Amino acid sequence: MENPLTPEVLADPVGLTRALVDIESVSLAEKAIADCVEEVLRAVPHLTTFRHGNTVMARTDLGRAQRVVLAGHLDTVPLNDNFPSTMRGDLMYGCGTSDMKSGVAFALHLAVTLPDPRYDVTYFFYEAEEIESKYNGLTLVSEAHPEWLEADFAVLLEPTYGIVEAGCQGTMRAILTTHGERAHAARSWHGVNAIHGAGEVLRRLGAYQARRVTIDGCDYREGLNAVRINGGVAGNVIPDRCEIEINYRYAPDRDPEAAEAHLREVFDGFELRVTDAAAGAAPGLDSPAAQEFLAAVGAAPIGKLGWTDVARFAAMGIPALNFGPGDPNLAHHKDEHVELTKIRDGAATLHRWLSPLDRPLA
Ligand SMILES: [Zn+2]
Repeated sequence: MENPLTPEVLADPVGLTRALVDIESVSLAEKAIADCVEEVLRAVPHLTTFRHGNTVMARTDLGRAQRVVLAGHLDTVPLNDNFPSTMRGDLMYGCGTSDMKSGVAFALHLAVTLPDPRYDVTYFFYEAEEIESKYNGLTLVSEAHPEWLEADFAVLLEPTYGIVEAGCQGTMRAILTTHGERAHAARSWHGVNAIHGAGEVLRRLGAYQARRVTIDGCDYREGLNAVRINGGVAGNVIPDRCEIEINYRYAPDRDPEAAEAHLREVFDGFELRVTDAAAGAAPGLDSPAAQEFLAAVGAAPIGKLGWTDVARFAAMGIPALNFGPGDPNLAHHKDEHVELTKIRDGAATLHRWLSPLDRPLA
């Protein structure tokens, strides 16, 4: 295959977005797109390029005092009659337009066109973000080459519709189990109904007042919800067991231990088992690189409510935020699209932020 990422395409973030969208790259089938990206980067004299699986990393080594990461995932969710891309006026439609090849285009465009950024930059183009964490290119790199990830600040180019979404909330799943005693439904007084026992759990969930927490000016809104309920033996048996699965989204001032302690307090007296937990990430906006980034964007950040790979960087002590042109509400939809003006504006913002020190920020 001829590499569609020609110098003319690389020079224009809009054309580059379209070219990337038109290389099919559903999770676990990123080889073709990674090959194209790697070939482009290896030809750039101011970058050193490495590859691990279908994750490509390229970096400048200019001896700057600070290093920043720009990262985007190459994979998309499965196609849904939305490949290849189509244009309708100022909108580009297609799988991956919003999530997140427009963001990937930012990183690739900057990598090729900016030989002297004000910070050293590490560009990541990684595989398998849309599926289980064990396949995620950043997970694999953090195990095989943790030094590749060293940086002072990271920007993940996930869709945020051109605003800064900082940090992210943690998530925890747990199962609450109530116990009873089986009996024939005709003589129910001989048993204890475990489903009725779950009533108190649901009452506490219904009455729960979720916190709103402000950190570094970013608002995080928590949520505690039942997401599944299981119980019952047969139509004529008093059930002896009921399980209520709950999901807790918590602000990044709590770590998973504190989140679990909180759940144990809320459900005091009930059997509770944590089945899954991921830490959140504080916004971490006080570093110089983050402050200059916010100045270049020129708009206040908001808190990220979903879990994203920023938490991976936060776990390594690297403050990270999300900034991308796509609309997060369109991600994974058949109608996924991106506004061309958002691509142009976002690319200009990143150019301003990374422009060499001898050029003014504004
Ligand atoms: Zn994404």
